Amino acid sequence: MKRIPKRTTVTAALPYANGPIHIGHLAGCYLPADIYVRYLRMRGREVAFICGSDEHGMAITVKARKEGTTPQAIVDQYHALMGKAFEDFGISFDIYSRTSSDLHREVAQGFFKNLYDKGVFEARETLQYFDPEAQQFLADRTIVGTCPKCANDEAYGDQCEKCGSTLSPTELINPRSTLSGAAPELRPTTNWFLPLDALAPKIREYIESHSDWKPTVYGQCKSWLDAGEGLQARSMTRDLDWGVPVPVEVAEGKVLYVWFDAPLGYITATQELFGADWEKWWKSEDTDIVHFIGKDNIVFHCIIFPSILMEHGGYQLPAEVPANEFLNLEGKKLSTSKNWAVWLHEYLEDFPGKQDELRYVLCATMPEAKDNDFTWADFQTRVNSELVAVLGNLVNRVVVLNHKYYNGVAPAIRTVLSEEDQAIMQAIGVQRAAVESSLESYRFRDALSEAMQLARLGNKYLADQEPWKLIKTDAERTETVLAVATQVVAALGSLMEPFLPSSAEKIRKMMGLEQANWSALDGGVLVSAGHPLGTPELLFDKVEEDAVERQRAKLAERAAPTASNEGANKGVVLDALKPEIQFDQFAGLDLRVARIVAAERVPKADKLLKLTVDAGIDVRTVLSGIAEHFQPEDVVGRDVLLLANLAPRMMRGIASEGMLLMAEDPATGRLDFVAPGAGMPVGSTVR
Ligand SMILES: [Zn+2]
Repeated sequence: MKRIPKRTTVTAALPYANGPIHIGHLAGCYLPADIYVRYLRMRGREVAFICGSDEHGMAITVKARKEGTTPQAIVDQYHALMGKAFEDFGISFDIYSRTSSDLHREVAQGFFKNLYDKGVFEARETLQYFDPEAQQFLADRTIVGTCPKCANDEAYGDQCEKCGSTLSPTELINPRSTLSGAAPELRPTTNWFLPLDALAPKIREYIESHSDWKPTVYGQCKSWLDAGEGLQARSMTRDLDWGVPVPVEVAEGKVLYVWFDAPLGYITATQELFGADWEKWWKSEDTDIVHFIGKDNIVFHCIIFPSILMEHGGYQLPAEVPANEFLNLEGKKLSTSKNWAVWLHEYLEDFPGKQDELRYVLCATMPEAKDNDFTWADFQTRVNSELVAVLGNLVNRVVVLNHKYYNGVAPAIRTVLSEEDQAIMQAIGVQRAAVESSLESYRFRDALSEAMQLARLGNKYLADQEPWKLIKTDAERTETVLAVATQVVAALGSLMEPFLPSSAEKIRKMMGLEQANWSALDGGVLVSAGHPLGTPELLFDKVEEDAVERQRAKLAERAAPTASNEGANKGVVLDALKPEIQFDQFAGLDLRVARIVAAERVPKADKLLKLTVDAGIDVRTVLSGIAEHFQPEDVVGRDVLLLANLAPRMMRGIASEGMLLMAEDPATGRLDFVAPGAGMPVGSTVR
């Protein structure tokens, strides 16, 4: 049995204030956190629900620069937008704070100074790229260049997204700053590192004491501890002018690493919420700290933040980190930069008042154990066949019949309860217990399905008893049936509260109940005979085909704004425009008209054709990944465009000397050659 703490501090990951909130954020973190907190409150447990905007870091300065405004203006805009979206979806934070506050600066600086004075950090001088035009040091993500492994021109300083290699900025060929386009210079700088390598034994002890964490979370932590050389020191300071200034003189002009300051934002927000009474929420042994996050934040919440708390001393370490996996959208990764998302504020413009419908579908498809997919077709099916047909239908039938037969007051149990009556009354307590045990172990999908099961049983009960027929022959028995059904509906007004707060409130209103009452869900009478009921109100209505069709069209159109403006390729997601390049970079490409003179398959390589290409200046071998699109005999004799000065690459033991230019249809993935017009001699250059 899990220990029940005296109080629980529940945090939800601070969302980054450089964009709005989408359904993936909601399903991954905020919705499960809210369901859990609402549940704890229903159980009468002492709980604080903490969140706020994460307002520092390089990405915000980059966005501000791009939009010609200040970082403060960016975070002000998104703090307001995100706060509103959370409120609209019933996310019941006790406080929604922000990390650009004065109090947070004090808190974060206090932590850094404490560790600094204890000698925890290691000062290290490193050479880092500096943008001479923008006059600042560059974060790994703001440097792009050519990948040394695959020659992708758009590799980032930390990773090549094309071949997946992990890189360091100095490995890039022809690096350039995304801030100004300038070639960066290496300059020495000192930063302060948290020595996770030295702290590893303590971290291991902490992690291994939580082998009961979700397997995805525990496994991830263990692999960092065990893989390769284990944990590595990480810099906790940055050469940047936006953030919490490092509170030591020798670090003039530097700020705290955003992942040093952001988790401390939970503590700041708690101080803001409780004033002088805040400490028990973080320092008492009677308190459990529970962090709800997405899987991309596991390292920060399970390793870095606990290390900071340990080295500081006096704080409880996170007790639970129920991180979720990712939600995809219509089969593709959600992407803010590609605008492939359903934004919460836009959803409510298109589906006003339907926040519970989205909460329902996101909870039912929550990516708890593996990544999961949100589709509009599934949204429509679940709303129509579950919310409308099961929950809405039960509530509506019972309330309407009570108004019709009993003038809107609760009916009385007139006859001895039958076996069926007793079974459905008992189901209330049974389903409550099932919801509890699922929520206590962070299984939100199971919990929702157990709560819905009560509505299913209620519908079956009504269908079996048929009070609308019975009324003609047996008024007393009819009243008993509806009195029993009324208790089931009233129970749903509490049982659904964590999942569908606004619908649960509507149910309670129709039942004439002031507030939810979890502990009363034990099969006893919740609404006594003669109690006045509220007016019937439809809980959910059907989502029509054209509504979801519009959503799909909107997604496709916005993901490819240029194409749709042109009227071409409507409905297809195009690659985003790559960063601007200079003419010199283009002029560096030696592109020529060439002719394929021979072609053959490469043994054991399904995708490759080995081509012999006449480039005018020479005849060479080029390997091309087109074998799934063309037969060797189809391509011989074709005129093509060749990137002739690409460094040779070895593939399958064959040196490929250049690359053919191909166009790819974004909708189907079909490849075709980019070819010169007829009559252009082999060897002609492209300029
Ligand atoms: Zn690469």
